[in-house]
Amino acid sequence: MTEIETEVLIIGAGPVGLFSVFELGQLGIKSCVIDSLDIVGGQCSSLYPEKPIFDIPGFPEISAEQLIINLENQIKPFKPKLFLGEKVEKISIKSDKFFVYTSKNKLVISKCILIAAGNGAFGPNKPPLKNITDFEEKSIFYHITDKSIFKNKRIAIAGGGDSAADWAIELSSIAEKIFFIHRRQKLRAAPNSVKKLYSLEKRKKVEMIIPFQVDSIKGLNGKLESLVVKDLSNAKKILPVDFFLPFFGLSSDLGPIKDWELEIEKNLLKIDPSTCQTSTDGIYAIGDVCTYPGKLKLILTGFSEAAVAAHSCYKRLFPDKVLHFEYSTTSGIKKI
Ligand SMILES: Cc1cc2nc3c(=O)[nH]c(=O)nc-3n(C[C@H](O)[C@H](O)[C@H](O)COP(=O)(O)OP(=O)(O)OC[C@H]3O[C@@H](n4cnc5c(N)ncnc54)[C@H](O)[C@@H]3O)c2cc1C
Repeated sequence: MTEIETEVLIIGAGPVGLFSVFELGQLGIKSCVIDSLDIVGGQCSSLYPEKPIFDIPGFPEISAEQLIINLENQIKPFKPKLFLGEKVEKISIKSDKFFVYTSKNKLVISKCILIAAGNGAFGPNKPPLKNITDFEEKSIFYHITDKSIFKNKRIAIAGGGDSAADWAIELSSIAEKIFFIHRRQKLRAAPNSVKKLYSLEKRKKVEMIIPFQVDSIKGLNGKLESLVVKDLSNAKKILPVDFFLPFFGLSSDLGPIKDWELEIEKNLLKIDPSTCQTSTDGIYAIGDVCTYPGKLKLILTGFSEAAVAAHSCYKRLFPDKVLHFEYSTTSGIKKI
């Protein structure tokens, strides 16, 4: 088990979790951030990267993706420790310290926890196939980071939305063959993309396997050999493939944090807005995951909560020190 000690553990690398690194850093506080997704940015990166946002103060219009890039740049001076693709699971409390365990066998010890978990840990919706975990990250991927591995390969892509259609179009230029599997006749993807897919089928780059769904996977030692697909009348086909990319969207789950015995109201963590503290001393919640009378689920509200929570952390970490409030125009960027 890897052990890490930090002053504040931030759960969630969405916009609010990222901005907390800045607010804590400006008070000279070290933090580390853990997110179950393998990218930073929470909802902004995973649900609407290309959409323009119009209510970030000082930015008349900014894409969600650019906002996250700006936040990453803003926290760079604090050399943030980011652990991605890792879900925070169990917690134990000894004297005044928290011991938090992650899905990757990591133990993080800290005196404060800042929960910026939004609607919960994001993860891909997976097809219900028996031996799927044997192939994950080897020949089955839910997220593409290096498309060069698909060169001259036979790929099955499943799903009916934009991600499935866009990746099928993109990879058709390098793959040997794409099988596009969807359980309904009609795709939800943008009409233009659907048109492109059918024109690629005419050029034999894509084969539409519709309406079919994946029934089972065959292969050895994580290496796929074929997918068995079936239609509504249970007629089966065998597709010889090297890779399988299911794109069935993301779902979120507050999951393990629900078992931390924090006060919860309608699936959200109740906090005192004057400190952002939850019902447990030293555990704070900010952003979409928290609730109090008048709470607005907006990025700008989360940013303000990040500042409030950082000041609360300071008081818990350094109870004997007086915090002299300084504007950033006076302090500049703090060194930690
Ligand atoms: C389509 C759309 C448009 C929007 N437009 C706007 C807008 O115009 N203006 C605006 O202000 N807001 C908008 N919002 C809302 C805004 O995106 C959210 O308020 C914001 O993302 C909340 O940020 P957050 O950091 O609190 O949580 P999130 O962005 O949800 O990030 C939380 C992160 O925590 C991680 N996490 C959760 N649990 C765990 C765990 N146990 N272990 C590890 N990681 C965990 C998740 O994987 C996630 O990455 C929009 C939302 C959507 C869906």
